[in-house]
Amino acid sequence: MSAAIQVPSSDLRSELINWRQRLEATANDSRDSFEFSGLLREVTSAIERLSEPESYGICQVCHDLIGQAAMNVDPLAKTCLNCLTPAQLSELEDDLNRAWLIQGDLLPKQNFKFNGWEVSYHYEPAGPVSGDYCDLVSTDCGDLYFLIGDVSGKGVAASLLMGRLHAIFRSLIGSGFDVSQLVERANHLFADTTMRPYYATLVCGKASPDGRVEICNAGHCAPLFLHNGDVSPIAATGLPVGMFCQERYESANLQMQKGDCLLLYTDGLSEARDRTNEEYGHRRLNSFLAEASQPSASSVVSRLVEDARAFSSGLPIFDDLTVMAIEMVGH
Ligand SMILES: [Zn+2]
Repeated sequence: MSAAIQVPSSDLRSELINWRQRLEATANDSRDSFEFSGLLREVTSAIERLSEPESYGICQVCHDLIGQAAMNVDPLAKTCLNCLTPAQLSELEDDLNRAWLIQGDLLPKQNFKFNGWEVSYHYEPAGPVSGDYCDLVSTDCGDLYFLIGDVSGKGVAASLLMGRLHAIFRSLIGSGFDVSQLVERANHLFADTTMRPYYATLVCGKASPDGRVEICNAGHCAPLFLHNGDVSPIAATGLPVGMFCQERYESANLQMQKGDCLLLYTDGLSEARDRTNEEYGHRRLNSFLAEASQPSASSVVSRLVEDARAFSSGLPIFDDLTVMAIEMVGH
């Protein structure tokens, strides 16, 4: 039999006990207490399973591990995905479809134009939902913030954390922080509220109407600056967010001119694989960009995605994929 799932059981136990107490209090105060009785039984049963060795996190039908990601999403799960009934599967499918609709609503407008900048992006989940983060926020001061990131892991758990990053940055932008302070604050909030071992790599940048760009890279794939056929990477200056609360971040400054482009992507692009399991890789990406002299934001995104698809010759994508290009088009 497989080893029991690795959960911080004392934390989880106290969380579940706390949950049960709140449910009991709500049920006592509510006239419709029967609505809570089913959930109360589920929570009590999970607390009992935690006391039995090799019971919590194990499928009660096939006795295999349910999986850490699935347990993170539903700490009360008793069955693995393979052992769900057709009715349960269809309910899960409906749930995931609704989750994807909600995630789609968090994405920025396509072909975003603001104050001399044009942005195009491609966002594609490997499964029903994505753990990639992608956002554009324009401010009353005339600046455009662009964000791209990748939450560790995949699937629903990663997509929930993507939603958390989205909310954190949206609430911080506009508070007058510079880009590195913004990432520091976001890191603190994300690390404080996110269960280990999850973290996110990300790039946060601010584009001003005069072509100045301030950019901070927290452990993410290096953004590429395209200028007159030259391709220059902007290396990471900090650790991914969510690892340590007090991490310091630095930002780099760029002066972009009309026709220059900044390309951001997640490793779903650089680590796309062909039929021989070879990676798309940075060399192929760089030479593709060097040949596409002075591309527009929309053409570089669509041609790059086409090239990656041609490379993997129709294989399903292996990881969530996001590509974003920011072009200075001037006024
Ligand atoms: Zn099972």
